[in-house]
Amino acid sequence: MILEEFQELGLSERTLEALAAKGFETPSPIQRLAIPVMLENRNDIIAQAQTGTGKTAAFGLPIVERLVPEKKSVQALILTPTRELAIQVNDEIQSFRKNDLRVTPIYGGAAMNEQLRRLKSGVDIVVGTPGRILDHLRRETLSLARLKWIVLDEADEMLDMGFIDDVDEILSHAPDERRIFLFSATMPDRISGLAKKYMRDVEVLRVETKQVTTDLTDQIYFEVRESDKFDALTRIVDVENDFYGIIFCRTKVAVDQLVNNLLERGYAAEGLHGDVSQAQREKILRKFKKRQSTILVATDVAARGIDVTNLTHVINYSLPQDPESYVHRIGRTGRAGREGTAITFISPAENRQFLFMQRRVKADIRKETLPTGHDIVEMKKLKIKSELAEIVEEESYAHYDGIARELLAELDPEVALAALMRLAFKNELDESSYPEIRRIDVDRRGTARLFIGLGKADGYRPKMIVELLSRECGIPQQKIDDVKCLEDFSFATIPFRDAEAAMKKLNSLRELANDDRPLVKLAKESEKKSDRNPNGVSDRGRNFRPGQGSVSASDRAGRRGGGRQRTAPKRDYKRRER
Ligand code: AMP
Repeated sequence: MILEEFQELGLSERTLEALAAKGFETPSPIQRLAIPVMLENRNDIIAQAQTGTGKTAAFGLPIVERLVPEKKSVQALILTPTRELAIQVNDEIQSFRKNDLRVTPIYGGAAMNEQLRRLKSGVDIVVGTPGRILDHLRRETLSLARLKWIVLDEADEMLDMGFIDDVDEILSHAPDERRIFLFSATMPDRISGLAKKYMRDVEVLRVETKQVTTDLTDQIYFEVRESDKFDALTRIVDVENDFYGIIFCRTKVAVDQLVNNLLERGYAAEGLHGDVSQAQREKILRKFKKRQSTILVATDVAARGIDVTNLTHVINYSLPQDPESYVHRIGRTGRAGREGTAITFISPAENRQFLFMQRRVKADIRKETLPTGHDIVEMKKLKIKSELAEIVEEESYAHYDGIARELLAELDPEVALAALMRLAFKNELDESSYPEIRRIDVDRRGTARLFIGLGKADGYRPKMIVELLSRECGIPQQKIDDVKCLEDFSFATIPFRDAEAAMKKLNSLRELANDDRPLVKLAKESEKKSDRNPNGVSDRGRNFRPGQGSVSASDRAGRRGGGRQRTAPKRDYKRRER
């Protein structure tokens, strides 16, 4: 199938083929707006777009389309606030033109040598974080002399992370003849100021979102890692009595992959996307309507025009590109006065887009926890019992009474039945066969940084601060992050919603409050920054080394279970007289 709508935006055959291989079907709203403008005219662009709206392709496709690869000097520079985003954007852009384009990510925290080698060997596009890019510019290991495009991706995030001066300096290195594309979810004054200073003939692009609402009351979401989504899905299907639903994915490739995985695990699933022929589509829909298959995996485009009204579930395996699509997707359940549930999976990368979407939809989307292995086994037991009761009532076991007598002559009834079930259900009733789905660490945005007036001099170590917060304030250990112990005080990041109660509780402890000053308070802005590494990225994920004085949630999770937990001795509560 040719990607007509992408073709109409002005993209070449070569790019369309790359998009088809990625499984894209139609452009997202921001792509529809931005691609033609970027391809056609000479303007600079400010685009208001969230993550997850397809913004990388919105700026990446026109650049890739117009760039003549030389593998010599850098022609496009894309600045991102974090290294994770730099890697993501790098990979996405590379996927648009695999064979003859050289793209490289340059970010802080990575070895300099490898970056130097790559820059020296010649690249067409650099995707990087401001600090490290500036580093290379100052060392003159990166030249922007032949730069044609600069993209400021998530400009508001760069501002929030204190990168704006770096960005300013980087822009001053660029030649006059270059275009700037600025992408930002919000437009604070300092960003407009930067735009005024460096940008010319600016065209502002903004996707007008209508206020959309939905009256479906049962909307829930689960926070799951991308890699755990499949297990989460099978769990939901298993725990439901009569699951009958549509699962939405973003691309054809994702649909095919999910259907294959489901079939492999024995679920009756079918997939619909733009490459499915009309005849095949009708066949699949007939089967689905007759409930011969009960799981339909589809892209948004393919699901258009499906009229099935009695779905028990709609599952957003990936978030839709915009709030309208969300409402459209979930509108397929709960129709005709029937109850239905809309479930959305949110990976950490989708969190921001989800918050935005939730605000737009004005819906009350409840957070839930996934069913555990125990829940599923209990549900399966109930199911077996009720199906058994049905067979007994209908007396539909005609050919089996003979063998039943033979078995009972030889075996104890309980043993016979249990062995028979093992035969029929394999290890489905074994709780341990359901893998653990890890909980997600707190998102930085919903956190508060605490200043705690206890430090190494009081005998405290990061682990003890974690234990203090969890024991006294009931904050789960995996939600306490980025703990740093200095000589006289410490810092810790906890969920924002717990911060007020935690401060109150700790400050009320008699052992701690032997001074007029409060022991625990919110860290000042400057303190938040000074204890971060130079790239503004949190310590999370770095390996903890004993004595380093910093411990992250993931480190703790990794070490949990090994060794005895140390608890802060009572006397450590005592605040040192200062
Ligand atoms: P972004 O907003 O650029 O971070 O993109 C979010 C995700 O959507 C990425 O995995 C993209 O590959 C995917 N994506 C972007 N544009 C499209 C599209 N037109 N159709 C399907 N998926 C897309």
